[in-house]
Amino acid sequence: MFDQLSNAISSVVKDFGPKQRITEESIKPALKSVRRALLDADVNINVADALIDGVKTRSLGEQVVEGVTADQQFIKAMYDELVDMMGGDSSSSSSSPTPSAPPASTLAIGSAGNPAVILLAGLQGAGKTTAAGDDEATLTTARLPKRNRKVLIAAADVYRPAAISQLEILGKSVGVEVFSMGTDADPVDIAEKALEKAKKEGYDTLIVDTAGRQIIDENLMDELKNIKEAVKPDEILLVVDAMTGQEAASLTASFDSAVGLTGAILTKTDGDSRGGAAVSVRGVSGKPIKFVGTGERTPDLEPFYPDRMASRILGMGDILSIVEKAQAEVSDEEARRMNDKVKNNEFDFNDFLQQAKLVSTMGSLGGVAKMMPGMGGVSSEQMIAAEKRLKKNEAMIAVMTEEERSNPDLLIKDSKALERLIRIAKFSDMPLSDVKQFMSEFQKMGTMMSRMSKANDKQQDPSMAG
Ligand code: GDP
Ligand code: MG
Repeated sequence: MFDQLSNAISSVVKDFGPKQRITEESIKPALKSVRRALLDADVNINVADALIDGVKTRSLGEQVVEGVTADQQFIKAMYDELVDMMGGDSSSSSSSPTPSAPPASTLAIGSAGNPAVILLAGLQGAGKTTAAGDDEATLTTARLPKRNRKVLIAAADVYRPAAISQLEILGKSVGVEVFSMGTDADPVDIAEKALEKAKKEGYDTLIVDTAGRQIIDENLMDELKNIKEAVKPDEILLVVDAMTGQEAASLTASFDSAVGLTGAILTKTDGDSRGGAAVSVRGVSGKPIKFVGTGERTPDLEPFYPDRMASRILGMGDILSIVEKAQAEVSDEEARRMNDKVKNNEFDFNDFLQQAKLVSTMGSLGGVAKMMPGMGGVSSEQMIAAEKRLKKNEAMIAVMTEEERSNPDLLIKDSKALERLIRIAKFSDMPLSDVKQFMSEFQKMGTMMSRMSKANDKQQDPSMAG
């Protein structure tokens, strides 16, 4: 869905090149091209402008991080803005590019006899009925374990011929019961009776499938308002078709002001829509997309993850995670401070702890290694062993005194060093041999780091060469 937009953005970034710094001048053409790409993808113009503004502020404001090139930084700013724009609520923070981040929103959860009522609204053919039949891990489950769920679907679309039998076939195929009163009944009455049944028979979820029209009209809105009044839904979700581009966003805004929505379901994202809907819905209507339809069948409904969608738009998930992690944890200044300490032989256990923490916030060592080019040769056993050792070392540092931490010589060269090591072994519940091994590794590490940092200085400062 995002091919065109992705291509446009990556070509902008290529032109941009890995310059050292982003300046107001240097990003101007890039911003202009991205804006055009957004509009070409049928993103609403106000949303596009807000995005561009945000990207500009972010990429000029961000500190330049060592090892992160200007083009990467620009992508990161785009990513953060896109996630915010599509983000809905706090459950998905922009600082988390991991694909396991929670979806934009979860649905209200009911209990047996006190069902959560979900009202589905939308134009004809948007995909309401398909969504209503969903049984796998999304709509009806609403985070409830499958075996505890008891779902009832009310067939309140009485206008379209065959609407009810469509729902009945669908219900049968996913094992969900459908409540209908034929085509002569009043939709409000159907919804009410369905709710009564759901309460009496211990259902925990009631989904009300409603009729659509070709266009928004007053009858449609009135009917929705009346159903809303009658069953007091916990969720009113508008089902919109991604193929309609930014129309989907303005439709969401109109329905919201007429009946009040809790969110949207964006269907047909598997088609060749250009992505404008996904980017625009929340910016225009203020309502989050909660689910996306990715295929013609009911099980193709998925929770909406703003961060995944942003990665898909940019088509650069891997680069992003590296930049994000580096940026979050290592500021330039911090790197310089550490370097100085090493050079002056001041690297102590506090610094070690800090470095260890850095590694653990970057995810497992194995995970970090996989992302880095050229590190494929490190076996996972080696990685696991290294992680274990790091954990042990942290436990030892935890029982050191403040003095010992900031003056490692007390544990290495001092006359009472052995006594101290015995105490640390006892309190950290480690064999003394392990504690001794850590001390010797720590010493070696200091020597190695200081050699590396001196070599680095020589390379950078020509006056010291030769
Ligand atoms: P309703 O009028 O809103 O109830 O729409 P339906 O649920 O009957 O769906 C209309 C058509 O769109 C059906 O043929 C569905 O199979 C199809 N459809 C619904 N959602 C999706 C989707 O996410 N992707 C694709 N490709 N087709 C979908
Ligand atoms: Mg329908």
